[in-house]
Amino acid sequence: MSLVPFVFQNSKSGKKEPFQPKDPTNVTIYSCGPTVYNFAHIGNIRSFLFVDILRRSLLLGGYKLNQSMNITDIDDKIINESIKQKMSVEEFTKPWTEAFFKDLETVHIQKLEHYPKATESIEDMVGLVETLQKNGLVYEKDGNLYFSIQKFSRYGELSKIDVSGMKSGVRYDADEYEKDDVRDFVLWKNQKTEEEKCWHTRIGSGRPGWHLECSAMIRKVYGSGVDIHTGGIDLLFPHHENEAAQSHGAFPEEEFVGTWLHCEHLLVDGEKMSKSKGNFYTLRDILEKGYDPNAIRYHLISAHYRSKLNFSLNKLEESKTAMERIQNTIYRVLDAGELWTKVPEILEIFEFSNQELQKVNSEFMNSLGDDLNVPRALASVFELVRIVNQVLDGGGSTANPTFLKESLQLFYKINELFAVFQFEKQVQSLDGISEDWILDQINQRKIAKQNKDFSTADKIRKELEEKGILLADTKEGNTTWKKAQ
Ligand code: AMP
Ligand code: ZN
Repeated sequence: MSLVPFVFQNSKSGKKEPFQPKDPTNVTIYSCGPTVYNFAHIGNIRSFLFVDILRRSLLLGGYKLNQSMNITDIDDKIINESIKQKMSVEEFTKPWTEAFFKDLETVHIQKLEHYPKATESIEDMVGLVETLQKNGLVYEKDGNLYFSIQKFSRYGELSKIDVSGMKSGVRYDADEYEKDDVRDFVLWKNQKTEEEKCWHTRIGSGRPGWHLECSAMIRKVYGSGVDIHTGGIDLLFPHHENEAAQSHGAFPEEEFVGTWLHCEHLLVDGEKMSKSKGNFYTLRDILEKGYDPNAIRYHLISAHYRSKLNFSLNKLEESKTAMERIQNTIYRVLDAGELWTKVPEILEIFEFSNQELQKVNSEFMNSLGDDLNVPRALASVFELVRIVNQVLDGGGSTANPTFLKESLQLFYKINELFAVFQFEKQVQSLDGISEDWILDQINQRKIAKQNKDFSTADKIRKELEEKGILLADTKEGNTTWKKAQ
């Protein structure tokens, strides 16, 4: 299979660049993963879904992947909380790590090849610090080891941060930082109190700084740098700048990362969703409100990864309606082509003789290849929905078996990315009623209600009910529909 070309907006150059992995049959990708001290919020989930979209797009493009996401199970918050709860770090982080994997499953995020943990990579971190020491980039103060930024001329290369205003000898000890404030950062922290978790190593008894963890885990998994490194935009500085400084400082001849990709934030009322601000929803919060995990996935991936996305339940409802529109067309195809029973055998073939389907397919793939442009890819999915519905509404000669089979295959291929659509007969089909007709009826009812013509509104609802279509009005004023069981 030939490879689909990709371009990515590389944070290193600030430009879109052709993607040229060293080996397309072993593309190496590292993503900063969760700090496991609590449930992830859906902002975090958005960044994990971005990794999934990257994965699924490259797989559809014919690449073979070797991907990692780390589990940050050593961090100031983890150490403090575990002391408070009188637990070991391992006991404290275990349920949160499990909750993280459960969340990934809920929103259909594919399993990666590696999930390295900080607690299992201490030796690699110690080795990296020793190499940095040999290269003269480390100094000690009060038992802690720091990376000396002034001794490293490439500092600022990734984030373009200005280091000229840096005050000499000013350091960061904590894992949390003030934005844009350049300081020497801690590589290794010595143990301050007896109860603090510590590792007895060649560089002292203590624990690693957060940035060191990722640099060391990348080296542990891949033995060198990676083709792609991802994270939320908040990680660009200082976390990724410091990771790059450590890795280039230790191995100046090697390229640490080919392409840096950063995903924008999920916002609430214009502000970044975050634990510290308290303006967050966990996945569980939203599921408890009765929302379908597929709708959450669809909603969070449908915006471009480099656009901010303002979250609201109203917008989530709208996404659900859009998703159902695609699903209903899939059901119509399954019905019209009598394809239900044949589904498993026919779906994996991605070749299209029909020209309109070919066009949708190439537009879909080109959109993904263009820096993972999911909104554009989605526009081609709706074009497919339009084409198919038009053919089915017209019935007769155009709805031939080959067309129906191929359109189903194309929907199936599209679902390799979206992973929210059903191809099995779990829900009853629409018995030839068109989705557009239902939406039109819903719209007519809405207009009738706006005109206070409640008898017409009730009549429309009744007529739909007689055809087995049930309407539900949401608090936000939208109307959803489903087939009666
Ligand atoms: P953490 O568990 O805090 O280490 O974060 C895990 C990932 O979630 C990181 O890549 C963060 O950059 C990302 N992240 C945190 N908040 C948001 C948000 N509001 N929207 C999108 N990504 C976020
Ligand atoms: Zn990281």
